[in-house]
Amino acid sequence: MVDRIILESPRTIATLGSHSALQILKGAKDEGFETLLICEEKRLGLYKRFKFIDEILTIKQHNQAFEKKSLQHLHDAKSVIIPHGTMVAYFTYSEIDKISIPIFGNRKILQWESDRNLKQKLMNASQLITPKSIQSKDEIRNLCIVKLHGAAGGRGYFLAWNKESFEENAQALVNQGRITGEEDLFIQEYIVGVPTYLQFFYSPISNQVEFLGADIRYESNIDSLGRIPARQQLSVNLEPSYNVIGNIPLVLRESLLEEVYKMGERFVKASEGLVPPGIPGPFCLEGVYDREGIFTTFEFSARIVAGTNLYINGSPYSDLLFEKPMSMGRRIAHEIKIASEKGLLDRIFT
Ligand code: AMP
Repeated sequence: MVDRIILESPRTIATLGSHSALQILKGAKDEGFETLLICEEKRLGLYKRFKFIDEILTIKQHNQAFEKKSLQHLHDAKSVIIPHGTMVAYFTYSEIDKISIPIFGNRKILQWESDRNLKQKLMNASQLITPKSIQSKDEIRNLCIVKLHGAAGGRGYFLAWNKESFEENAQALVNQGRITGEEDLFIQEYIVGVPTYLQFFYSPISNQVEFLGADIRYESNIDSLGRIPARQQLSVNLEPSYNVIGNIPLVLRESLLEEVYKMGERFVKASEGLVPPGIPGPFCLEGVYDREGIFTTFEFSARIVAGTNLYINGSPYSDLLFEKPMSMGRRIAHEIKIASEKGLLDRIFT
């Protein structure tokens, strides 16, 4: 464990240049913070366009973001780091744990996000309905989705409906060098319905769970297969892939909202029990609504998700809770401001 710097009052909000950085820093600026972006050289052209970014710390590659020189710079600027999906993808939990600068949220729970067994444990403890796990290819009876451990953005996932279809696709992944064998794969019941991403924020200051938005991911090529008629689909050898290209806003039927809040609250409570101090800040429950309107959760993210980029100017749900346009990025900065004023920063930083 490294000596962590304790901040009395953060001056700067910092993040890595990718994922939801624009939203995070815009929100930080709107709440009166200085903003700092740690940015790969090749992305400077993009990020230099935005006036709300006060300072850019240039690095060659993401993995250099928290080297000694950057840490000193972040420290001098009295920074707090906001983690997002790119940070989780580029740094292991133990690397994140070693960063001496305060990180918004509970850094320990990021490990639970990236470990399939821990993830399942937390979803079970939250009493969320989850897809059945299929233990062996011999037990495949219905449509299944086959996942690679730790695959970013669903790359390499495939659908299987019996042993033969499983073996054929698994062999293709072995041939491509993506996996060493079938044991690298994880078989899960495929839930037919509307894939939905539920965006929450939990404030340990007000002790409230806020539901701030929902979205649908638009994934290539799976979401475009419906544009190809069945005859052509059958005659061309098309394999589905799940690479997220963007997000589409979704407003839920109002009658679904009660259960949405209950799921979010159960998740917060279970996190507090299993991974203290729990989940201060943003998180996302990711699943499928079936034809009965039942939500089956297949994943969670224990930090801001990129689907919240839709709502930089607030969402239909944040408008019901706040008097000003409240993006998830701004909500984070707002929480830091309130916690700082009340002397409660230890509840939101680790
Ligand atoms: P993930 O990388 O786990 O977020 O999954 C990538 C995509 O696969 C999701 O956006 C869904 O479209 C799909 N998916 C994952 N798990 C399931 C499941 N159990 N049933 C149906 N679709 C799923």
